[in-house]
Amino acid sequence: MTAPLHHPLPEGIPFYQPVAAECTLFETAHAKGLPLLLKGPTGCGKTRFVEHMAARLGRPLYTVACHDDLSASDLLGRYLLRGGQTEWVDGPLTRAVREGAICYLDEVVEARRDVTVVLHPLTDNRRTLMLDRTGEELQAPPRFMLVASYNPGYQNILKRLKPSTRQRFLSISFGFPEPETEARIVARESGLDPARVAPLVRLAGHIRALAGMDLEEGVSTRLLIYTATLIAGGMPLERALQAAVIEPLTDEPEVVQALRDLISVVYG
Ligand code: ADP
Repeated sequence: MTAPLHHPLPEGIPFYQPVAAECTLFETAHAKGLPLLLKGPTGCGKTRFVEHMAARLGRPLYTVACHDDLSASDLLGRYLLRGGQTEWVDGPLTRAVREGAICYLDEVVEARRDVTVVLHPLTDNRRTLMLDRTGEELQAPPRFMLVASYNPGYQNILKRLKPSTRQRFLSISFGFPEPETEARIVARESGLDPARVAPLVRLAGHIRALAGMDLEEGVSTRLLIYTATLIAGGMPLERALQAAVIEPLTDEPEVVQALRDLISVVYG
């Protein structure tokens, strides 16, 4: 089934091409105060989706790229010394709760363990955020929403999201879009002629079939957009594919060869 065509967007709303019923799910989750988990590989449109929905719902968005050093204080806030005085400064999660904004924790599993402790009371019917350091207990207003993303493709078992955390979120899986939809996205984002986008998307299909065997993860929509942008900017096809597909995907000479073979299958 072809995804619905996007209607022209009011100014300031980032373009997002829906692939299924994800916009309705997001709107319902927001209206009902439920947290949402987006599962899927890198570069498949999760962040763009959240940016689009936050703008559509007219809510400010706080995005936090989680990493293995990110602690609860990074999200909640901390006392800082300013002009000889200590002053409490809210972190992005606290600010989002106070303002009734949307907080997006990208790659939430990467964060340190103490982060989940903070999230639990916020993701059940209490919807509270405890600031132990200031003694505050914030009640999240109805328009506040927590969104997190998670890449289940990571092989590292230690990086799986614990059931006690994941069962607190509504969840939706993102895969790569259908070829026709992906071609529309790549053409729109890169400005490359659709006739030249089509073989790129076909190539992506072949490369993704290798994922899990020779490749850890298939080529992302993001990389296809990079490739198409380079081509639209006048770079020869071969160099664009080298810089935006082959090099980002692998360091292994055999896999490089396998990718080159696929390129010749598609481009002859
Ligand atoms: P993720 O957060 O899943 O890693 P992003 O949202 O950053 O991926 O997507 C990478 C790029 O791909 C975006 O900047 C956007 O240009 C494009 N993209 C992917 N999917 C879509 C989509 N459905 N609609 C519009 N753009 C998309």
